[in-house]
Amino acid sequence: MSASSAPGRRSLLLSLLLSLLLGCDAGTSIQNRQFLAFGTLMELTLAGVDGQRADRITAVIENDFHALHQAWHAWDPGPLALLNQAFADGERVALPKVVKPLLLASRTLSTRSDGLFDPAIGRLVDLWGFHRDDPRDNRPPSPEAIAELLRQHPSMKDLRLDGEQVSSLNSAVKLDFGAIGKGYGIDLAVERLRSMGVENAIVNGGGDLRAIGDRGNGAPWRIAIRHPDGEHLLGSIEVSGDESVFTSGGYERNYYWRGERYHHIIDPRSGYPARGTASVTVIHSDATTADAAATALFIAGPTQWQRIARQMGVGMVLLLAENGDLHMNPAMRARVKLTDESGTRIHLSAPFPAATMAGEQ
Ligand code: AMP
Ligand code: MG
Repeated sequence: MSASSAPGRRSLLLSLLLSLLLGCDAGTSIQNRQFLAFGTLMELTLAGVDGQRADRITAVIENDFHALHQAWHAWDPGPLALLNQAFADGERVALPKVVKPLLLASRTLSTRSDGLFDPAIGRLVDLWGFHRDDPRDNRPPSPEAIAELLRQHPSMKDLRLDGEQVSSLNSAVKLDFGAIGKGYGIDLAVERLRSMGVENAIVNGGGDLRAIGDRGNGAPWRIAIRHPDGEHLLGSIEVSGDESVFTSGGYERNYYWRGERYHHIIDPRSGYPARGTASVTVIHSDATTADAAATALFIAGPTQWQRIARQMGVGMVLLLAENGDLHMNPAMRARVKLTDESGTRIHLSAPFPAATMAGEQ
């Protein structure tokens, strides 16, 4: 979906750190398999499975991811590109089966985020230069071009579904599932794993993951949370059962122009990269919601994240502000083990319930 612009050295260091946390330990049979998909390094961790079975399972999951990546890609030719062309032309067309569930989930989550997460703003993302594999040579668009797109105000609310047909009331709508597709793909991968009898596993896409079961011996999975500097870990959490951990950060895709850094998470209200947040980590049951929420809460920032988290039904949030302050709710505080909290100002919010709304989608 999107290629990371992080320098290779950092990515290597990070994968090493993650592997150290997730990797094998004596006495348990844990298999790790890696492949590239969604423009990122995907890792499957399987407990209690022998090497040959792990290879077969990985081949199935990898194949699924490649098909989804092709179907949902925001700028390569494929079903989504055709759909976006139809919206631009004001045509009503058949909604591809592979896009429909993602579109429906996106619409619900967009409404709950007050439109902060809105996959219909693909033209804005494109305008900022992020609809290309390598954004490094980009420069910011003109304020006039941004104002013109804001005036047209493309949003998920413009889409009209009529049975299996879809159209857009607004020709400026361009769908970009970059903020949710990986989460949705990881949820599908977990379904697929379960259908193959796998109950203890992690599906990890570049540090965003869903963990099911445990390490096969009753011990919980240990999950690393990336620090936005790309070289350290902010902390770790233990997971057993079924939980997703997703992080959104301005460090993932960005470029520099005249000394300013411009990143890929765009505030639909201003048309500019969101300010005030360095990264947001969300723990939630399903990966689809966790992915969309991490993006929405990044935009909501230090002053509005609590309201948006409640609306999206997300029960555990950690937000690192640009000024270095950490914001968390008590449920997250109880789960996260910070690597180094000395000198960090921690703002604890009032508690809020960890209601999951996934069933309502
Ligand atoms: P994530 O890394 O999950 O936070 O997703 C970021 C990606 O989502 C970007 O690279 C864009 O493709 C897309 N995106 C950027 N801003 C938004 C937004 N406000 N709502 C939905 N998708 C967005
Ligand atoms: Mg996201």
